[in-house]
Amino acid sequence: MIITSAKPFEEILSLLKDEDDIFVVGCNVCAAKLKTGGEPEVLEMCRRLEESGKHVVGWVLPTAACSIRSFESLAEKNEKIKDARCILVMGCGSGVSAVSTVVDLPIYGSNNTLSLGGTSGGELLSNQCVMCGDCTINEYGGLCPKSQCPKALLNGPCGGAVDGMCEVNREKDCVWDLIYERLKKIDRLDLLYVIHAPKEHGFK
Ligand code: SF4
Ligand code: SF4
Repeated sequence: MIITSAKPFEEILSLLKDEDDIFVVGCNVCAAKLKTGGEPEVLEMCRRLEESGKHVVGWVLPTAACSIRSFESLAEKNEKIKDARCILVMGCGSGVSAVSTVVDLPIYGSNNTLSLGGTSGGELLSNQCVMCGDCTINEYGGLCPKSQCPKALLNGPCGGAVDGMCEVNREKDCVWDLIYERLKKIDRLDLLYVIHAPKEHGFK
C-alpha cells in the first residue's frame, strides 16, 4: 500500500488560488484506506472548497487513481469533468502523474506521498513517484522530475538531452522536455521560474 498524508487544507487552497471550476479525483484503494482520498474525504474536500468560494464542478472515485489510463474512463463516471478548468487528485504522486497523462488541464495533488508501506512497486509507481514525502509535483504540471529525471533535477534540465531524449537513458524522453511541453499546453510556463529548494525528506 502507498502511504500518503493529506496536505493542510490551507496549502491546497493556496495551490488553487488562481483556479476555479475544479474537478476532484479520489482514489478508492490506498488513499481510501488511509482516509486521504476516499469518498468521505472527497466529499469533505468538495464542501470545504465550495465553502472557500471555489466552484467544484464534480468528483469521481476511480478504483485506483494510479490505474487511470484514459480521459474517457473518467468522463464515463462523471461527464462533468468536461466542464472543469483544473483537476485536484486526492491520491499519491503516481496517481497525479497518471491523471496528468490523460487530462490536458492543470493538475494538483492534495497529498504527500511517504512510503510504500508494504508490497507494491508496480511499474507506474517506480517510474513516476519515488515517495519523497514532500510532494511538489503541482509545480511541474503533474510530472515529477524527482522520480523521472535520473539526476533528480528540480530546477530545470541538465542540458544534455539530445532530440528530446535523456542523456543518461537514451531510451527515455527527457522529463524536463515533457514538463516544458506540458506547462506550455496548460499555459503555466510561469512555473519554470519557481526556484525549488532541496527536498525535505523528513516525515511531515
Ligand atoms: S514530488 Fe515526486 S517523488 Fe515526491 S511524492 Fe511527489 S510525485 Fe512522488
Ligand atoms: S536529459 Fe533530462 S531527464 Fe535526462 S538527466 Fe538531463 S534533465 Fe534529467
